[in-house]
Amino acid sequence: MTDPVDSPRSNFIRQIIEEDLAAGRHQRIATRFPPEPNGYLHIGHAKSICLNFGLAQDYPGTCNLRFDDTNPSKEDEEFVDSIQADVRWLGYDWGDRLYFASDYFEQLYGFAIELIGKGLAYVCDLDAEEVRQHRGTLTEPGRASPWRDRPIAENLDLFTRMRAGEFPDGARSLRARIDMASPNINLRDPVLYRIRHGVIHHQTGSEWCLYPTYDYTHPISDALECITHSICTLEFEDHRPLYDWCVDHVSVPCKPRQIEFSRLNLEYTVMSKRLLTQLVSEGHVNGWDDPRMPTIAGLRRRGYTPASIRDFCERIGVTKADNRVEMALLESAIRDDLDASVPRRMAVLRPLTVVIENVPEAEVQEMAADNHPKIAELGTRQVPFAREIVIDRNDFAEQPPKGFKRLVPGGEVRLRNAYVIRCERVIKDADGQVIELRATADLDTLGRNPEGRKVKGVIHWVAAALGVPCEVRLYDRLCSVAVPGAGGGNFLDDLNPHSLTVLTEALVEPSLAGVAPGERCQFEREGYFVADADGTPQRPVFNLTVGLKDTWGKAQR
Ligand code: ATP
Ligand code: MG
Repeated sequence: MTDPVDSPRSNFIRQIIEEDLAAGRHQRIATRFPPEPNGYLHIGHAKSICLNFGLAQDYPGTCNLRFDDTNPSKEDEEFVDSIQADVRWLGYDWGDRLYFASDYFEQLYGFAIELIGKGLAYVCDLDAEEVRQHRGTLTEPGRASPWRDRPIAENLDLFTRMRAGEFPDGARSLRARIDMASPNINLRDPVLYRIRHGVIHHQTGSEWCLYPTYDYTHPISDALECITHSICTLEFEDHRPLYDWCVDHVSVPCKPRQIEFSRLNLEYTVMSKRLLTQLVSEGHVNGWDDPRMPTIAGLRRRGYTPASIRDFCERIGVTKADNRVEMALLESAIRDDLDASVPRRMAVLRPLTVVIENVPEAEVQEMAADNHPKIAELGTRQVPFAREIVIDRNDFAEQPPKGFKRLVPGGEVRLRNAYVIRCERVIKDADGQVIELRATADLDTLGRNPEGRKVKGVIHWVAAALGVPCEVRLYDRLCSVAVPGAGGGNFLDDLNPHSLTVLTEALVEPSLAGVAPGERCQFEREGYFVADADGTPQRPVFNLTVGLKDTWGKAQR
């Protein structure tokens, strides 16, 4: 249901809608999410999706999914499919309201004829460069095209012949006849149609050689779908007068209202489809769904949940202020979701063998382990313990730094869900590298600390012969600076060379054998992980979703 205007979820767009409903201007609201199918959706799009579909859920209304497919040379069916899959995955449903701007090409053409008939559009023979030269600047008015006063009949004839394919690319365009002296450059007779031969449109094939511009197509598509509130990002603010001009001067059934909000920018990554396309096509990442990408597909593979992304979009809010959001806020949203929902497991990422000399060789002892320290409903499991185990190399130090609470020569540590062990001997290879530890277990310490002894450290472990070998992919930020490419530099120079670390020796506890791709858990003391589709039942692959340390939460609380 709707929140009161002063609730944290409220924003200026909700206030406009509530005023419109209260004033009886609309009984129902209609929004749309209008992606161009020229790339995969990213987290910025998620903000727009959550906003548009969220409004339709919270107020009586609907949200359409409409592909703004007016630029066929950059668009592709692959993107049409991935966009639908991603919106669905985020938890939204457009019902039977899936539209393509290209569905309206015939109507748009009819409206162009209408504009020509009213003396509001003309065929211009200037080429693109000349049109630009005539347009003027912010301080100088534009100059009229010599074709601006072409007779209506001649315009109609030429426009019909443009459609019929009589003229080559760039020879002519259709322009709105608005105001070459307008202080708003968008109103200086903007181009409405261009000739484009030889492109195969993913929806209309080779039916058209005449393509409408985005600025003409978008308002009319909104109006044809009777969108009430057409929500877009701030860079379209200066286009709003043209938006209004289009819906005011053709015979559309409705007059939508355009409202702008500020786009999401995230630190340590890039968000423009042009740059994301470059990362993929030049092989800087392994495809659109590389877990380092800020795409929905990448975040999904990284282990993000739809709920965490919706939660993040809620937390960032909707305003008109320019902003760059800390990555830690996104990480905090997924951490909160996973902490409350996924089981704990033990996984040793960089194994070091420990032989526990007072445990008989053939013996395997099943240890009961809680799946979650706070959520009893997640149950328990058995973890096998044996003479030979592995611990993480980082949990042993020969020369421990100050405050080190884990295993040291001659020191004691508790094995999670098992005994306290003491490190008796350190075995090294010829190069002096530690290759094995010899230890003894205090078999009287299951579930309790021995009297009179302080064992501070608790470390995780896996039985060496029973653990499941797997690959673990550790991800770090895509870029090494908060604002990649700042100051005009090439953003590729700011890519983080350590954004991916692959660990091939890892061992996970046997309960993770045969884990299904998409399954999530917390590796104790390491982070949240998700099984990747690259793995097999014999050799799973795990992606790091997010580490355990909540830098955002610390800073805020
Ligand atoms: P990009 O700049 O990444 O290429 P775009 O605006 O060209 O994005 P579209 O497919 O046209 O991509 O976007 C579909 C919708 O998503 C538009 O309404 C657009 O305003 C919105 N959108 C795109 N990027 C963001 C963002 N970073 N934050 C919020 N909304 C966004
Ligand atoms: Mg766009």
